[in-house]
Amino acid sequence: MKFATKAIHAGIEPDPGTGAVMTPIFQTSTYAQSAPGVHHGYEYARTQNPTRSALEKNLAALENGVDAICFSSGLAAQDAVIKLLKAGDEVLAVNDLYGGSYRQMVRVWGNWGLKSRFVDMYNADNVAKEISPDTKLIWIETPTNPMLNIVDIQAVCAIARKHGIITCVDNTFASPYLQNPLDLGADIVLHSATKYIGGHSDVVHGCLIVKDAELAQRLHFIQNACGAVPGPQDCFLILRGIKTLHLRVQRACENAAAVAQYLANHPKVAKVHWPGFASHAGHEIAKRQMRMFGAMVSFDLKDNSMENATRVMSRTELFTLAESLGGVESLIGHPASMTHASIPREERLKVGLTDSLIRLSIGVEDADDLIADLEQAIG
Ligand SMILES: *Cc1c(COP(=O)(O)O)cnc(C)c1O
Repeated sequence: MKFATKAIHAGIEPDPGTGAVMTPIFQTSTYAQSAPGVHHGYEYARTQNPTRSALEKNLAALENGVDAICFSSGLAAQDAVIKLLKAGDEVLAVNDLYGGSYRQMVRVWGNWGLKSRFVDMYNADNVAKEISPDTKLIWIETPTNPMLNIVDIQAVCAIARKHGIITCVDNTFASPYLQNPLDLGADIVLHSATKYIGGHSDVVHGCLIVKDAELAQRLHFIQNACGAVPGPQDCFLILRGIKTLHLRVQRACENAAAVAQYLANHPKVAKVHWPGFASHAGHEIAKRQMRMFGAMVSFDLKDNSMENATRVMSRTELFTLAESLGGVESLIGHPASMTHASIPREERLKVGLTDSLIRLSIGVEDADDLIADLEQAIG
């Protein structure tokens, strides 16, 4: 089955009891047993819920995995991956990663003996040099947030495999429509389904997808033992969002290409970060591992004062100033003070995340209207 068909059909069966075409919201905490231990495969809703099971089957199909495990948020999914490790183990992560991922690794797991190091992965050979005997997990995010750098998933996963190290790819920015890391050698794919997969900015949700049944069992065990499960209503909303994932992401990418091109020609714009430009350092890799170049664009102004960036961000009318991304509506944001405020300024500046960097999440509106809004805001 091809992607669009899987988005609509994978894991979705009419309800056997009623014939309901759409997966019902099974709002129950427990399930009747006819005798102790005799049941329909469902005992208690932290462990299994039919709405969640349908979503997990669908997500596994979208990422070409054997199984998926859903969580109450993207960071709860990350938390479960780190629980595969033990004190003294090290995670090697890309140096330009989501602020919340960095915060959890350093400020929560650091207290429990996790070592984390943040390294340049844009040259895969550098990863081989950075591996230590304690490295047990390699954490990739690509395209990165908010610099839109590209990591060669296939090359880094091949190095990890040689050393017997687990790889996890945070695929939130690309979505399963654009990029499928399991096909490129990754062990685990993580999504904040809050973003493109849900797609309507109305639910917080996370998931992991794996291609190894034994690893899936370990993650299901952690999910059940620790309990960060999503509610059935949230699973229903994510299932509903997925039905248009391919249409939304396709349009958002087309709009992003138009907006990026417009910004690149703007006399007041210093630099536009978008992997679709032939001049982008990761362009060739992006062409190989992504179907389109994504709908996230970030840029710096020539007058790179904080005041100027603030002025532009508070003047947009269609672009809403807000955290998050991946919804049908376009958002504008200031990573330095919003999503990446938990990363120390020196760390930020090292990767080019300046005080005046502006990040756009391009939605599915009409590109002409989005460009007109930026035109009046940049002035
Ligand atoms: C939002 C986000 C997360 C965290 O997901 P939540 O659902 O907010 O917990 C992780 N990684 C990336 C790249 C994100 O954008």
